[in-house]
Amino acid sequence: MMWPWVAVYGVSAGVNLLLAVGAWGRRRVAPAFAATAVMLLMCSWYVLINLLVIVWDDRPGRVAVLTGLLVSDVAVVSAFLCLALLLIDRAWRPSRRLLLLLAVEPVVSGALLVTNGWHHTYYAVMPHPGQPFGEPGPALTLHTIYLYTIVGTALVRLGRAWLQNPRDQRRIYSWILISSLCPVIAGLVSLVFGLSYELAPIGMAITAVINYRALIEEGLPAQVSIARQRVMETIQDAVVVLDRAGLVLDANPAAHRLLRRLRPGASAEVQGRSAAELFGVHVDLAEGAIRSLTLTDARGVALDLDLSIDTLPDRRGAALGWALVARDTTELNDRRRQAEEANEKLQQQLATIEALRADLAEQAVRDSLTGLYNRRRLMEILAELYDQDRPFSLTLLDIDHFKRVNDTYGHNAGDAVLKLVARHLTGRVRLEDTVVRHGGEEFVVVMVGATPQDARARMEQVREHIAEVSRVEEPYIPVTFSAGVASAAVHPGANDLLHAADEALYAAKRLGRNRIELADPASEAAA
Ligand code: GH3
Ligand code: MG
Ligand code: MG
Repeated sequence: MMWPWVAVYGVSAGVNLLLAVGAWGRRRVAPAFAATAVMLLMCSWYVLINLLVIVWDDRPGRVAVLTGLLVSDVAVVSAFLCLALLLIDRAWRPSRRLLLLLAVEPVVSGALLVTNGWHHTYYAVMPHPGQPFGEPGPALTLHTIYLYTIVGTALVRLGRAWLQNPRDQRRIYSWILISSLCPVIAGLVSLVFGLSYELAPIGMAITAVINYRALIEEGLPAQVSIARQRVMETIQDAVVVLDRAGLVLDANPAAHRLLRRLRPGASAEVQGRSAAELFGVHVDLAEGAIRSLTLTDARGVALDLDLSIDTLPDRRGAALGWALVARDTTELNDRRRQAEEANEKLQQQLATIEALRADLAEQAVRDSLTGLYNRRRLMEILAELYDQDRPFSLTLLDIDHFKRVNDTYGHNAGDAVLKLVARHLTGRVRLEDTVVRHGGEEFVVVMVGATPQDARARMEQVREHIAEVSRVEEPYIPVTFSAGVASAAVHPGANDLLHAADEALYAAKRLGRNRIELADPASEAAA
C-alpha cells in the first residue's frame, strides 16, 4: 500500500519543482513570481521529505529526516507570507529582521526534535510505521500553532487586500485564498478518514498549480492593463484607435468630448466611422506625423489641435492600424499669441523710451532758441579735443550793441537776430567745425586743424556775410559782431583757452567793434 503514496508524493514534488523553475523564469515580470518560486521550491522539498518519511520507516537517521520536515514546513509558510505581502505591495521586500525572526522558531524546534530522546517534549512517541504521525508532545503542538499563526497572518492580509481592492482587481486574491484551503482540506480529510499517510502534500501540489495560473492570468500584467485603461479614460488628450482601413475601433472619453464639441448632433456611436468623418477634415495617416489643425466647433469657436499619428504594428511589424492622439492647443496658442503681442508692444514702448531718452540727452546739450550746442556740450567737445591732442582754434564772438537791439525793436526781434546769426554762422563754417551758443549774444566757433590766422580769415568772411544778410533778411536789423581768436596749441586747457579768447574779444570791442583780434599775435605768428 506504500508505493501508490510514493508515486503521488513524487508527482506532487515534481509539479512543485517544475512550476518553481517556471516562476523563477518570470521573476523580472514581478517580484511576486520570485516569492512564488521560493515557495514552490520549499513545497517540493516539503513533499520530498514527506516521501522520505514514508520510505525511511524507522530506519536510523529518521530524526534527521523529521528535522528536514520541520525546516521545510516553516520555509513553506514563511515563503507564503512573503508572497502574500508582495502581492499586496509590489514594493515590499523582506527585511533582514523579519528573516531572522522567521529563523528563530525552526532552530529552537529543531534542537528540541534532535534531542527528543532525552526529554520527549517534541514527540511523546516518535512516529513509526504503526503510528505514522507519532504522538505529539507540547513542543510539536506549539510548533504547529506557530505554523498556523503565520499562515493565518498571510490569509488575514490577503483577505483585507481583497476587501480594499476594486472588484476587477480582486481575483488574484480570491484565487490565492481559495488555493490555500487545499492543503488544509487535504490535511483534514487524512485526519477524518484516519489515512495512514498525510494528503497535505497533494493539496500543496494543487495549490501550486492554482497559484501559478492565477499569478499569470490575473496577476500584475492584468493590473498594468487596468492601469493603462484608467490612463486612457482620464487623460485630457483625445485618443482614437483606427483599424487598418482607417475606421474607428476605439475612442477614449476625451475623444468623445471633442467630437460632441465639434458636432453635438452627431451620433455618439463612433465605431466604424472614419477619422475624416469625425473631425470633418481629411486626416493623412502617415507614420509619426504631427500636424496642427484649426477647426471650428459647433458654436463657431476656433479650436487648435495638434494631431499625432502612430502606426500600431502587429507581431511581425505590419500595420494593424493607427493610434491618433489629438491635443487641444487652443489655450496654449492663445497664450503664445498674447505673449508675442505683449512682447511686440513692449518692444515698441522700449523704442519710444529710447527715442525719448536720446531726445532728452540731445536737449540737454542744445540751446532751445537757436538749436545750437550749448556751453555744456562745448566743454565736452573741448575736453575730447585736448584728450586726443588735436590742434584747433577757438573763436569767441559777441554781437555788438545787442542791448540796443532789444531796447529798440523789442525782445522778440532780439531773438530773431540771435537765430539769424546762429543760422548764418552754421551755414558759413565747415561741416567739421562746431558752432556753440556760449550764452546771451555770445557764440563760439571751434575749428579743428585751423591755425588762428586761418580761423580769423574765415571768421572775417562770416562777419562780412552776416553784416550784409542782416540788412536784407528779417527782421531787417543790421548786426555786426566782434570776436577774439585763441589757439589750443598756446593755451593747454579749456578755461585758459576761453579766457584768452575773451581777452581778445574784449580787445576787439575796445578797438571799435565789428572786428576780430588774435589772443597771442606774436607767438601765433611764430607758430
Ligand atoms: P557790446 O557791444 O559791448 O557787447 O554791447 P551789448 O549791448 O551787446 O552788451 P551787453 O552785455 O550789455 O548786452 C547783452 C544783451 O543781450 C543784454 C541781454 O538782455 C541781451 N540778451 C541776452 N540773451 C538774450 C536772449 O536770449 N534774447 C534776447 N532778445 N536778448 C538777450
Ligand atoms: Mg555780451
Ligand atoms: Mg554784445
